[in-house]
Amino acid sequence: MIRYHAAWIVPIDGEPIRDGWLTVDRGRIVALGRRAANDPTPGVELGDVAVMPGLVNAHTHLELSHLRDQIAPASSFTAWARQIIYARRNPTAMKDPAIGPAIDAAIEESLRSGTAVVGDIGNTLAAFDRIAASPLAGVFFWEQIGFNLPGADFDAIVAHAVEDLRALRTTDKVRTSLAAHAPYSVAPLFFRAIKKAVDRMPFAPFSVHLAENVEEVELLKTGGGPWKTLMKDIGSWNFEWKAPGVGSVQYLDDMGILDDRLLAVHGVQMSPADLEKLRARGATLVTCPRSNGHTGAGLPPIADFYASGARIAIGTDSLASSPDLNVFAEVATMHAVAPSVPAASLLESATIQGARALGVDADYGTVQPGKLARLLTVDVPPGTGDVEEYLVSGIHPSQLRWLKT
Ligand SMILES: [Zn+2]
Repeated sequence: MIRYHAAWIVPIDGEPIRDGWLTVDRGRIVALGRRAANDPTPGVELGDVAVMPGLVNAHTHLELSHLRDQIAPASSFTAWARQIIYARRNPTAMKDPAIGPAIDAAIEESLRSGTAVVGDIGNTLAAFDRIAASPLAGVFFWEQIGFNLPGADFDAIVAHAVEDLRALRTTDKVRTSLAAHAPYSVAPLFFRAIKKAVDRMPFAPFSVHLAENVEEVELLKTGGGPWKTLMKDIGSWNFEWKAPGVGSVQYLDDMGILDDRLLAVHGVQMSPADLEKLRARGATLVTCPRSNGHTGAGLPPIADFYASGARIAIGTDSLASSPDLNVFAEVATMHAVAPSVPAASLLESATIQGARALGVDADYGTVQPGKLARLLTVDVPPGTGDVEEYLVSGIHPSQLRWLKT
């Protein structure tokens, strides 16, 4: 059993503890509390640091890390998407020898930035073994895309995908699931088949990019607009498809996809009524505000997200649309954009909300007895009064170390 002393312990499920102590045995947290002024119990003195849970990056695409600085910022999402579709459709693009090393570098960067858990999206299985071999925990989602597949047997397509996932060496630390890309890129019957397969898996979340951009809303409501043009240009338009005439959240709800297993990623275009529906269904909204700025989707309504009472988690999205994989930087952006949101709520989003959505909250997300001691120490200035405010104001990786247990 090791005992630690720190200026602050930030357990997330309760108030920060000043002059805290924490005991760890065989990698798990045993107990924590506040030190009395004359308590003589010896311990490892960590000094002016805040001890907190490792962060959860609930949405990223490590597979796209080689596209860092390759995709220019855009003024509309479909203009941005065109760039990335063409970059990936280049016949040699997904055989680029830089992909593997770029994934490894991105995993290293995530760890240096304090990330313990990822929700990672892949269109190939390239990232899985690399994540599984690293200290990261989380869920690898194999993302399915297919809008124009007339006559396809979607149950068979999905069954093949599930077989391929079964062949991977999953561990208790890194599990797998399926994701549907987005309402404009996955046919309705395909959506239902993916959801049915995920519901049959024990313990599996479902992920979808939802209400990310105004063009998606236009397509669902009217059946036209820039997405239709782009899909026709790349030969992926489905001439049989009928616009549902409703918004993105209602569309998913009508298909039975809105539930407590859902990670709805982005939500830039969600109204308070949409957010209320997410709250009522127990779904988690994953916000990635820096990516939204880069892709031309625009700033998400962060204050509305929190006002709704829905579960909010945080992702960096990929290095194709984000400057780095630092969740602390994502949090600082949210704090700057929505200063009225309590710092404690932002910290919950960066930890326990993501852990719960990914189904790893028994081990991660709070400093609580019984959980893994996968904890960060964050350098804080001596005499820091409001440690939560400090933590949401921008933490540089040089301030971070993993607690050695
Ligand atoms: Zn994404």
